Amino acid sequence: MFILIRGFSTDSLCKKGNIMNCFNHPNIPAVGICKSCSKGLCKECATDLDHGLACKDKHEAEVENVNMIISQNTKIYSSAPKNTIIAPLFYLFMGLVFAGFGYTSKGGVTDLPFVLGVGFIVFGIIVFFRNRALFGRNA
Ligand SMILES: [Zn+2]
Ligand SMILES: [Zn+2]
Repeated sequence: MFILIRGFSTDSLCKKGNIMNCFNHPNIPAVGICKSCSKGLCKECATDLDHGLACKDKHEAEVENVNMIISQNTKIYSSAPKNTIIAPLFYLFMGLVFAGFGYTSKGGVTDLPFVLGVGFIVFGIIVFFRNRALFGRNA
């Protein structure tokens, strides 16, 4: 028994540095780690959920919960106010480039690049206020 435990611990945790074996099958190399309990799992013992592995028939629900919390957090961060300002700034920048180019070109302010640039700037301002109206309350 003592030898078995010794063999288990050295095989599963310390074999060749970082290579881990399955928690349930000490002789089978693990394909991954359960996202819930961090134990090594072989193909037999692991359930491959979309964003991580779970102990088969044991921690699937827990890992699903972890994944749900993570994806909810990502959704919250993706609608953060700082992102709503990137698109308008991009349009403003494009507008300034076009308008500047049009202004200094032969056609002057009546030429297409300048008109296009002004259009971009106006569009950028509209998007900015539209985003503020949509996301402002979360800010
Ligand atoms: Zn687990
Ligand atoms: Zn296994």
